[in-house]
Amino acid sequence: MTPIRVGAATVARIEESYEPNFDPRLVFAEWSDDVRDAHRDWMVPNHFDVATGLLKLSVHSWLVRVGGRNVLIDACVGNHKPRPRFPKWHLMETPYLDRLAAAGVRPEAIDVVMCTHLHSDHVGWNTRLDDGRWVPTFPNARYVFSRADYDYHRALDADPAKGPQAAFRDSVLPVVEAGRAEMVDGAHALDEHLVVDPHPGHTPGTVAIRLASRGEAALFSGDILHHAIQVHHPDWNSSFCADPAAARRSRRRVLEHCAGSGALLMPAHFGAPFVCRIESRGDRFIPHLD
Ligand SMILES: [Zn+2]
Repeated sequence: MTPIRVGAATVARIEESYEPNFDPRLVFAEWSDDVRDAHRDWMVPNHFDVATGLLKLSVHSWLVRVGGRNVLIDACVGNHKPRPRFPKWHLMETPYLDRLAAAGVRPEAIDVVMCTHLHSDHVGWNTRLDDGRWVPTFPNARYVFSRADYDYHRALDADPAKGPQAAFRDSVLPVVEAGRAEMVDGAHALDEHLVVDPHPGHTPGTVAIRLASRGEAALFSGDILHHAIQVHHPDWNSSFCADPAAARRSRRRVLEHCAGSGALLMPAHFGAPFVCRIESRGDRFIPHLD
């Protein structure tokens, strides 16, 4: 995929997986055959797989190159991570780092890693297995984490009723222990191009990341929207959203921002073409996926 230009920045999608993977009835309580049929024209084949009846959700990072820096947004599932609750993500082995290299960047050259939140499919490549230990994959990067999300996952991990949080332990804590984590509170400008903006709901510390360069803009929305059907149905939460009312508010904020500013929406899991412009039409939003 040719990198996308946003002003002087380029943004490349680094794929980990893109295949039919989630049962829509388990992700969206409101899903129905009628909804599927009403949206079939645009959903098939990139966003919904007819043969399996599964959603096609991509798992990818965004590699932003701007101001001489290499910034990686979200870190997918990672290799060799035990994730028995999600069989497709269990002990994965993908050529993700080869794809990053094909985009022109070796792990040593990543300057900043930013996670929109700390769920397991956004932190995995933060670390890699080295002689039985989890170590930072990007040895020279500072890793920017939302403090609210860090505190939330740390509390879950310490809660005997929830049990140990594997992704927190193997993909977040080793980065903190290596002294490479930078916790940010509230809105935070990383530099003149990138701003972290709290959008709580999916998790308490979920952030959107805004990119601006030379009058052009993009917004990295993580899991504030999982699937493009949520542009048509902004009140649909996924079953993974922690605070339903806040998640709906944050989703509308993202859609209104993109529709009002023309910013390119760059979510973490939309199917091809993986990004879209948002048009506001009356009280509805339309995704432009071509
Ligand atoms: Zn996700």
